[in-house]
Amino acid sequence: MGGTFDPVHHGHLVAASEVQARFELDEVIFVPTGVPWQKGGREVSAAEDRYLMTVVATASNPRFSVSRADIDREGVTYTVDTLRDLGTRYPDADLFFITGADALEQILSWHRADELFTLAHFVGVTRPGYDLAATHLPSGSVSLVEVPALAISSTDCRARVAAGQPVWYLVPDGVVQYISKRRLYAAED
Ligand code: ATP
Ligand code: MG
Repeated sequence: MGGTFDPVHHGHLVAASEVQARFELDEVIFVPTGVPWQKGGREVSAAEDRYLMTVVATASNPRFSVSRADIDREGVTYTVDTLRDLGTRYPDADLFFITGADALEQILSWHRADELFTLAHFVGVTRPGYDLAATHLPSGSVSLVEVPALAISSTDCRARVAAGQPVWYLVPDGVVQYISKRRLYAAED
């Protein structure tokens, strides 16, 4: 499961857990992006902070882990490179790529989209505010999975922190504490 994870929240974790159970996956690997090319215009938090928050959030689940593949690769993150790197690292694995309905809508605009479908099976999960059914994708290449609807986004979590509002129960407790310790997302003073 790729993402900016700025910060990781319970929407990500529920989606990962549901897809893990549905497909009986051995492991869900969270892969924080390096330089996310589609997030132009906004400062993204340091890769190391996003990586550590993801580690904190996933530490208690034996089937969850975090990969540094994208943050350690030079340059802009493309999912095709992520999947190639994971394929090299786990040559015998069947790879699944978990993505929310919003990201799935953009999937065909992704770098080398045609190749993506040969590298992994794509799983699109429902997300409040986005219509999964309306997405037109090559048949057979993507599974659509309904997950419990959590109307949580990282954008909203950042805005809440900047406004002094709580993010308790939107993100794991350890992530609340990490945000506070590192003073992430605070309004400039
Ligand atoms: P931002 O608001 O900064 O874009 P985000 O909440 O969308 O953050 P991302 O890191 O961009 O989080 O998302 C990583 C992946 O998780 C994407 O595939 C996205 O569609 C999916 N995702 C994020 N939030 C949810 C949610 N609440 N329910 C289902 N899928 C989600
Ligand atoms: Mg997003």
